[in-house]
Amino acid sequence: MLSPNLVESDQASIAQEAKQARASVQPPLAQNIRRSLRQQAAEFLSREDAVLVAHYYVDSDLQELAEETGGCVADSLEMARFGFTHSASTVVVAGVRFMGETAKILSPEKRVLLIEPQAECSLDLGCPADAFSKFCDQHPDRTVVVYANTSAQVKARADWVVTSSIARDLVADLSAKGEKMIWAPDRYLGDYVKRQTGADLLLWDGSCIVHEEFKGEVLSNLKKQHPQAKVLVHPESPASVIDLADVVGSTTQLIAAAQRLESSFFIVATEEGILHKMRQSAPDKTFLAAPTAGEGATCISCARCPWMKMNDLQRLISALQVGSGEVSIDEEVRARAAVPIHRMVEYGRQRA
Ligand code: SF4
Repeated sequence: MLSPNLVESDQASIAQEAKQARASVQPPLAQNIRRSLRQQAAEFLSREDAVLVAHYYVDSDLQELAEETGGCVADSLEMARFGFTHSASTVVVAGVRFMGETAKILSPEKRVLLIEPQAECSLDLGCPADAFSKFCDQHPDRTVVVYANTSAQVKARADWVVTSSIARDLVADLSAKGEKMIWAPDRYLGDYVKRQTGADLLLWDGSCIVHEEFKGEVLSNLKKQHPQAKVLVHPESPASVIDLADVVGSTTQLIAAAQRLESSFFIVATEEGILHKMRQSAPDKTFLAAPTAGEGATCISCARCPWMKMNDLQRLISALQVGSGEVSIDEEVRARAAVPIHRMVEYGRQRA
């Protein structure tokens, strides 16, 4: 069952925001300029007692800078956990807004800076807190499970926060206890979890503008051209794509699969920034991005998240220079949102 939450005007406004984000992405810089900017950024991080936590989807310079300077490249949960345990007084987030909020929720005493505070996520934008709260009020008998890609206010309304790495197992566990659930915001991941577990999930109808563009039919044709390839798919993708996967998993799980599986050729259906880490961790293997458009069609995102790509070295330096992009969350909201996040962290820890 899918709830009719998003109207056409909401979807048009998300598409418009994505278009604006794409327009503000800086063109690639010459290598010598990038090298010099990386050096400057490293100096600013050290001067400001700051650690850089970067998502797998941001550009390779930021990923490498994070690793060279003692930060991390990870999925959203690990980014927040890393910032929480690191001794630096400032955490700089190379990612999107909800990731900065999650870091702040876990580390309220630290200064958390977003490289680009306008970097959104279509899942977060597609799940406004007021509308979501009303929706939950209409279904008081259901446990509220929300994906990490949501605002602090939406998390504050939830019983559980999950990442794609634990979504299926957690929902299976709650279902086994007889709980019916609301799932938000990604309808594709929700549908995947529902098909896998048989749980009674009422789905919000948000989507990731990047993953929903992967196309099953075109992927199937590509597979025929490369019969030796293993297909790695993030579960924010449509069912027709997931059904062709050899491995379905979170970003971290897909990177691990690329290292572990014996195949030397992979087709990857998730944001293309992840290919950098896959090529780093399995340099002798070949990785091909999954197709995002049907015959004659034009892709909108082309497997590149416009908001993730707003993060760059110049904006990082500027954020550290002037202290811009600082995340602040109302303390009552933060404290309520911290409860389901800590529940998720503990659930993940027990299963590790
Ligand atoms: S890739 Fe999709 S889910 Fe990830 S931040 Fe971009 S819009 Fe959100």
